[in-house]
Amino acid sequence: MLTKIAFIGLGNMGGPMAINLVKSGQDVTVFDLVESAVASVCKEGAKKADSAIQAVKDVDVVVSMLPAAAHVKALYLGDNGIINASKPNTLLIDSSTIDADTAKLIGEAVTSTGRAFVDAPVSGGVAGAKAGTLTFIMGGEVEAVSQATPILQCMGKNLFHAGSTGAGQIAKICNNMLLAVLMSGTSEALQLAIDNGLDPKVMSDIMLQSSGCNWTLEKYNPCPGVMEGVPASNNYQGGFMVKLMNKDLSLAMNAAAVTGSATPMASAAQNLYRLHQNRGNADKDFSSIFTLFERKP
Ligand code: NAD
Repeated sequence: MLTKIAFIGLGNMGGPMAINLVKSGQDVTVFDLVESAVASVCKEGAKKADSAIQAVKDVDVVVSMLPAAAHVKALYLGDNGIINASKPNTLLIDSSTIDADTAKLIGEAVTSTGRAFVDAPVSGGVAGAKAGTLTFIMGGEVEAVSQATPILQCMGKNLFHAGSTGAGQIAKICNNMLLAVLMSGTSEALQLAIDNGLDPKVMSDIMLQSSGCNWTLEKYNPCPGVMEGVPASNNYQGGFMVKLMNKDLSLAMNAAAVTGSATPMASAAQNLYRLHQNRGNADKDFSSIFTLFERKP
């Protein structure tokens, strides 16, 4: 059945996600602060709204995909917040990666008005967003999660219900903490092989069939020229920015501080990513951490 959906935040992830909603036949209205981002989704059949408030006022479902908690708070709770601008029985889904406490705060603000809320951060990168194969990790009440499921299936392949509101965010930051460790470790191993005269493509093929195999080797090789269609082979443009990985590492480390969990590997990865960002790489894809290990002549 056709659903009226507002999609807010059309960046590297949100753009292709909104396009997949359009392609699945939904009635999609979009808004982003960047005009060109709106234009490229409208070219595929979405309707343009001039503000977030206008986008949400006549829809059944809202999906937001913004950089960080401050943006999400401003969108939902700010002076011109979208909650009260939406119809009384709207389902609001936030797919941004933010801290669980903010997700809970927003969840309470939404559900206290009788509307439904699901935090549904994603994994799978820009390639997964384009292919409609994202993993959605949901937190929220069972009824809201059931309502969100058919919508998210238009953009993803694997859907999980991690627990109550905020649980999706906890699961997501645990995953990304591990991803930062894997990307750093894979880069370190490839550079050691290169330093010892090996071809990084051959080394990658060996690790893919050996015990060092992991997602970064399978889908996102960080060494330029080894894999086609990944940011490493496109000057580290597009993809998942270093500054967003640093945001996720901070979220993970803050969560670990609250529970007193030991995270020594993530601590090392966080320092590597901070160093890398401070050298002017904030907007590059996170696989560019490889260049931190690279030897310059
Ligand atoms: P991005 O910076 O490319 O896109 C964010 C978009 O939000 C931008 O187009 C920006 O203009 C827009 N925006 C910001 N504030 C807005 C507002 N108030 N109203 C409307 N639009 C607004 O970021 P991204 O890579 O698409 O990531 C989005 C979220 O998804 C982040 O939380 C990120 O951590 C998470 N994520 C990203 C990836 C990835 O591979 N890029 C993978 C998984 C999860």
